Amino acid sequence: MSHTAIAAIEAISIAISKNKEFLTDLDAAIGDSDHGINMTRGFDAVLIKVKGLPTHTDIGTVLKTVGMTLISTVGGASGPLYGTAFLRAAALAQGISCIGSHTAVQMLEAATNGIKERGKATSGEKTMLDALEPACEAFANGIKAQKSLVECLALACDAAYKGVEYTKTIIATKGRASYLGERSLGHQDPGATSSYIMLKALADFCRH
Ligand code: ADP
Ligand code: MG
Ligand code: MG
Repeated sequence: MSHTAIAAIEAISIAISKNKEFLTDLDAAIGDSDHGINMTRGFDAVLIKVKGLPTHTDIGTVLKTVGMTLISTVGGASGPLYGTAFLRAAALAQGISCIGSHTAVQMLEAATNGIKERGKATSGEKTMLDALEPACEAFANGIKAQKSLVECLALACDAAYKGVEYTKTIIATKGRASYLGERSLGHQDPGATSSYIMLKALADFCRH
């Protein structure tokens, strides 16, 4: 139901604002100190928009609203990237009021591919993709092993967390952090971290 989708978006939004300073501090080390600010501004605007949607709105429309709002309110690179991700996921949820694990993995994959195309990036470049690509793979493996949606989300979160840790070991080749070259080593990527935080919030929401 759309109220469940809106509640899930609210859970993500709360997790982002709780981590506002953490994400901004991570960005201070290898970027321009605004990732937490950007994401919080975006999700604050998202919450107002989605709460204004009529009851019984389909999940596709909820996610489309999220994507368009992120694109129009977040100044940084993350806005169009996450915005595209939500729009791609929205396209698979049109007219749908309930999401099963097969649709969920397709949505996660579509979102990740959207970021890849929009950012002209791939995994191993110290971006959000280093959390999202392993998450997709783990989710798909969970489905193959006949795990439930909640279990698949937990596997995806574990993989995303490992992906965040992995970003500490690599040099950035995309985004602002790439200007630092080797000096980006040892720092975790802010965008990979926000991807993990959003997935974790979604997994916790679905578990309860
Ligand atoms: P900005 O760098 O414009 O200030 P943010 O700080 O909000 O934007 O977001 C930075 C994050 O965006 C990075 O940590 C990285 O994960 C992600 N990012 C930057 N460029 C790309 C790209 N080309 N492809 C994928 N992700 C990217
Ligand atoms: Mg930044
Ligand atoms: Mg910026």
